[in-house]
Amino acid sequence: MTAKAKPRLLVLGGGFGGLESAFYLRWRLGDRADITLVSEQEHFVYKPNTIYIPFGLDPKKLRIDLSRPTKRQGIEFVQGRVQEIDPTAKSVRVDKQGLTYDFLVVATGADMRPAEVPGLVENGLSVWTEQDMLKLREAFEKLASSAGPGERKRVIFLLPPNNKCSGPLYEIVLMLETWLKRKKVREHVDIIWTTFEKGYIQVFGPRLHEVIGGEFDRRGIEGRTEHVVSEVEPGQITYENGERLAYDFLISFPPYVAGTRYSALPADDRGFLRTVFETRQVVEHPEVYAVGDTADFPVKQAFEAFLQADTAAEHLATEVLGKSGAKPFDPTSMCVMDMLDKATFAQVPLRLTGRPELPVEVRPEDIGRYKVGTSAAWRVGKKILALYLPYRFKRGKPFHAGAPWRVMEAGLKLMSRVLAK
Ligand SMILES: Cc1cc2nc3c(=O)[nH]c(=O)nc-3n(C[C@H](O)[C@H](O)[C@H](O)COP(=O)(O)OP(=O)(O)OC[C@H]3O[C@@H](n4cnc5c(N)ncnc54)[C@H](O)[C@@H]3O)c2cc1C
Repeated sequence: MTAKAKPRLLVLGGGFGGLESAFYLRWRLGDRADITLVSEQEHFVYKPNTIYIPFGLDPKKLRIDLSRPTKRQGIEFVQGRVQEIDPTAKSVRVDKQGLTYDFLVVATGADMRPAEVPGLVENGLSVWTEQDMLKLREAFEKLASSAGPGERKRVIFLLPPNNKCSGPLYEIVLMLETWLKRKKVREHVDIIWTTFEKGYIQVFGPRLHEVIGGEFDRRGIEGRTEHVVSEVEPGQITYENGERLAYDFLISFPPYVAGTRYSALPADDRGFLRTVFETRQVVEHPEVYAVGDTADFPVKQAFEAFLQADTAAEHLATEVLGKSGAKPFDPTSMCVMDMLDKATFAQVPLRLTGRPELPVEVRPEDIGRYKVGTSAAWRVGKKILALYLPYRFKRGKPFHAGAPWRVMEAGLKLMSRVLAK
């Protein structure tokens, strides 16, 4: 009698979604499956903390080498770029190599398309890669050293349509304001915030708008909603409403597209893979899952990538084990937004609306779980997360699962009972 071969599980992408999926599958299935992780970089980057690079953080501190945790968990690591997926042959081309699978998790993230805004590439600074963040650091240092009595400077922040993760840009504008105060040049710098959104961080509902609006007022940041950019020229932005604003420094978070497009899988016009909401399986391809920024959930966030990865990995594990009953996807987002002097925590139960102009909204039936709070203590919460997550990933363990996460969750619940409403 021959032993039945183990199923081959292939995970593409070494970011939040890919690592959480691979480590969750190993944690859940033990040695009942062969798991391979493919990523083009040899390390994971803890992207949420790249917001500190412009203020001095060394980018190397945010990297986790992928070879050790994968080896520790008996996961094969293949470093290379995925070129194409053939769902009929159940194979993936990685550079010149072909890899086959029984189940596939696609988590190859997103990319920026700044060229959608005429003039943005040539004239704007961006928040995306470590290199972008280092350029921002140079710009901030130049701003702080050049602004002074008789030398007023103007910084404009610009959020264009189709950016799918506005939070980090809000963090940077608020952190810059605190940082300029500490550098004692704040009164010589005008800060203007312009966004296409109807309300600040509109995907997270009205309470975030109130919090951010209050912070902008207190800090003298001029905020403008429903400002859709039409063109950027050297030193000047034009909006669709005809308004023109001059700037010395322009900082933007560009429109999103899928990091890699897969022609054989169903996707929307930006390359985001179409998924079955509850399970995260790719539409009409039940053996393929898509999680994180590369999938079609409209909010691109690490926390959402975790929720999707756990949903997909649990569903896939029950398939492998011949069971059923995996929990459906619940997109309840959590985030902590730093301002350097305090931070805002938000827990937001979301649902899809089907309306392109506002694709998600707060779930009315779960309004009691919609919590927002601002306090210096939330900065500590963000720091604990930034220690705990790399600790888990360095050991090849899922972040958002098991007893350690339940302890973290209990701590968060306690904090939000005291520090959020
Ligand atoms: C500045 C900034 C701050 C942020 N702050 C927060 C925050 O505070 N909280 C939060 O929840 N979210 C935050 N986000 C969003 C969060 O980082 C993303 O949503 C998250 O990284 C998505 O995870 P992912 O695994 O889908 O993609 P990624 O983390 O981008 O990972 C994709 C992986 O796939 C690899 N890859 C891509 N294409 C290929 C290919 N063809 N072949 C092989 N490998 C490939 C990449 O190298 C990478 O390893 C922030 C984002 C930015 C830019």
